[in-house]
Amino acid sequence: MQTEVAIIGGGLAGLYAGKLLHSRGISFTLIEARERLGGRILTRDEEGTPTDDGFDLGPSWFWPEIQPRLAALVHELGLATFSQHNEGEVIFERMSRETPWRYRATQQEPQSLRIAGGTGMLIRALEKQIPGDSILVGTRVRQMILAANEVSLSISKVDGTAHTLTAKQVIAAVPPRLLAKLAFSPGMDSVTEQRWKETATWMAPHAKFFAIYERAFWRDAGLSGTAQSLVGPLGEIHDATTASGKAALFGFPSVGADARAAMGESAFAKSCLEQFARLYGPEARHPRATLFKDWAADSLTATSDDRNGGTHPKPFAAPWVNGDWQHFLSLGGSETSGTEPGYMAGAVSAAERAVDEVIQRLQLTDRTPNK
Ligand SMILES: Cc1cc2nc3c(=O)[nH]c(=O)nc-3n(C[C@H](O)[C@H](O)[C@H](O)COP(=O)(O)OP(=O)(O)OC[C@H]3O[C@@H](n4cnc5c(N)ncnc54)[C@H](O)[C@@H]3O)c2cc1C
Repeated sequence: MQTEVAIIGGGLAGLYAGKLLHSRGISFTLIEARERLGGRILTRDEEGTPTDDGFDLGPSWFWPEIQPRLAALVHELGLATFSQHNEGEVIFERMSRETPWRYRATQQEPQSLRIAGGTGMLIRALEKQIPGDSILVGTRVRQMILAANEVSLSISKVDGTAHTLTAKQVIAAVPPRLLAKLAFSPGMDSVTEQRWKETATWMAPHAKFFAIYERAFWRDAGLSGTAQSLVGPLGEIHDATTASGKAALFGFPSVGADARAAMGESAFAKSCLEQFARLYGPEARHPRATLFKDWAADSLTATSDDRNGGTHPKPFAAPWVNGDWQHFLSLGGSETSGTEPGYMAGAVSAAERAVDEVIQRLQLTDRTPNK
């Protein structure tokens, strides 16, 4: 198999890179290890199946005022948006022996927006703009070998078969920590490898718990759905009602990945519902359905280094790739963005930068590994 550009990763960054290359008439093959596209973007209905009207188990918000490139893409793809619901009082739970406080929050600035249907709509819309035969899902890149003027990628499919793909250029649209797990020949220099390993994958230590209800009863009680808790197991809770009106609350656990794993999913869910009942009243104990996604337990997002928390990645001015590989490999995942690392907006800006780099190198005729 041969391609002009290999894109590793079919999250927002990889798909957006594919869209940009396609619009420039450059052929590419996008290789995605999971059997679905989207990466950390994951929208599911209450049964946990893919949908175009569901709940965001990964990212939900963006901020158009400070993320104009992502806002422009959302607009270009014709996606509708709506504001995060925050009308009503906020709850603060300080201690288990104290009644939670209610207070009126100040207007949120900048306003968080959500995509109608879920952020998965971004992925669906991008997928439609890319030729289907350019995408390989359920296919994992294991190794990259630099030989002459091309890169050989060793890939394996979920059925266990192994193949080789040759590319003139590679865009790695994956978190740097996952890229550091690949085998490189020649080996990656130690400075580059260290930098990849030290770059925390944003939100990888986290999880989201959803409870879906017949109606948003907390709104009737004058509550916005937003809560902060020092008691747990959820530390931050928000209204997750969809644009179409499916009522839900979601929370980010304050309990760490190891403690969540030790508790087990059903005990964790029970304790989340107990907390919802404490904060929003007894009706909250009886949702129509619950959803839970623990990103720390997903090896295509988190490494063992991500389990115990991590800082927000910072923009770096230094190059992401050095040595021979810098002529053939660009990093395009969100964490490598120079402006919004870790965010969806970062995936868009990093993909744009990686595509620019690759196009520039494709236009250079005289490329050798030692230049
Ligand atoms: C719980 C949670 C909440 C979040 N909330 C927000 C939010 O509200 N707003 C916001 O802007 N951002 C948020 N984020 C961050 C946002 O999801 C990411 O910035 C964005 O989705 C990253 O996109 P990406 O394409 O760079 O990486 P990813 O989505 O991680 O995609 C990388 C892809 O590469 C694939 N892959 C990995 N290794 C290989 C391999 N060897 N071979 C082939 N494929 C491989 C993976 O399967 C994955 O599909 C949140 C993230 C999480 C987890």
